[in-house]
Amino acid sequence: MIATPPATVSIISVLLVEDNDADADLISEQLQDAELECPDWPRFTLTRAGRLSEAKHQLAAQCPEVILLDLSLPDSVGYSTFEQVAAFCPTAPVVVLSGLDDADLAVQAVRHGAQDYLVKGTFSAPALSRALRYAVERKHADEVRSKLARDRAEAEAALQARDAFISAIAHDLKNPLTVIKGQADRIGRRLLAQQPLPTDSLEAAAQQISTTALQMHSMIDELLDVARLEAGHALDLRLEPTDLVSLVSTVLEQFRDRTAQHELVFQAEPANLAGSWDSVRLTRVLCNLLDNAIKYSPRGGVIRVRVTREFVDNQTWAAVSVEDCGVGIPPGDLPRIFDRFYRASNVAGHIAGTGIGLGAARQIVEQHGGSIDVESHEGRGSTFTLRLPTAADREPGVVVRDSLGAAEPSNATP
Ligand code: ADP
Repeated sequence: MIATPPATVSIISVLLVEDNDADADLISEQLQDAELECPDWPRFTLTRAGRLSEAKHQLAAQCPEVILLDLSLPDSVGYSTFEQVAAFCPTAPVVVLSGLDDADLAVQAVRHGAQDYLVKGTFSAPALSRALRYAVERKHADEVRSKLARDRAEAEAALQARDAFISAIAHDLKNPLTVIKGQADRIGRRLLAQQPLPTDSLEAAAQQISTTALQMHSMIDELLDVARLEAGHALDLRLEPTDLVSLVSTVLEQFRDRTAQHELVFQAEPANLAGSWDSVRLTRVLCNLLDNAIKYSPRGGVIRVRVTREFVDNQTWAAVSVEDCGVGIPPGDLPRIFDRFYRASNVAGHIAGTGIGLGAARQIVEQHGGSIDVESHEGRGSTFTLRLPTAADREPGVVVRDSLGAAEPSNATP
């Protein structure tokens, strides 16, 4: 009696790689017998290749559910036959067919990933059928296990990223708090000692407390935005008439005080670029790009910020680009660089960061109907460009971008 339960698939496609006609006929008959003996079991559809080259040809066209592989073929002999098939079609499970004299090779193949082996002339029809079914089931179970392991590793990485984010935020919020507490303590001590601060010092202290509290306010607003976005909600944009050139130039002025190592170069063409945008959120996006340009150019260098007007698909866009000559982003990390909490392999663990800025920046820009993208070369630098729609009309001299992104002056087009 055969006590094995039916497989989860009802038809199993088998590629038999066997050059010997008699052996191939026997296998085909045994599979038919197995179907008669065990009608509840899955059925088999059999195709055959007589050479390794033919097998590869068939595998390239379609991957079967299972490969039944004789190791001795006219164009490949021994363990390397298995190696080549497994490398060519890693997703299909392989059951090795061996002769009595090469069973050791079959065992070696099993050690390196073959699902099973059968010694020719020694197995029954149900045993063949069972070996093929189990091979399919085991491979499926392996895939499920590796997917679970991958999901678990990703979940752990996300938790670690979140922990790092929380501790970085706690650290960032502590700095301004220390300033506020320091000033308040100073005023309090002087009052207790009945030696109040002179009015001008008091005014300066009040001014510092107020500015620092404002900074904390904007950090908390940013956190609230991140929490909203994390929860899958859109931001409540406050659109207002804004001149992008003056917004960028104001932000740059603040950054000039922060770095002596970097040269910040600003170019704007035209001199004013108006649109209806959320200036607070756009300022945050720009600050994030500039913070990154400075942070990821540890040796200093020039950071170029350009504001231009572009014309694409009959629409005028305001573009801001931030170019640095810093560490750049490895090509393998580029596609995920705007994912929340994602940090590139060349900076994670070396340069502090949380991996939330770019994700939030992209969502802010996209909510404006715009886009943000990056061009980067590892070790040479990065250019981040954001584009925002404007209502302005096209004017002569405007940079025109074709659908592939190539730029030319609009007055050169008919
Ligand atoms: P953070 O800088 O806090 O890690 P961001 O979301 O701002 O988070 O950036 C995500 C990642 O993108 C960074 O960790 C870094 O790997 C990469 N990155 C961003 N800007 C630059 C840049 N100018 N140069 C090189 N890498 C960058």
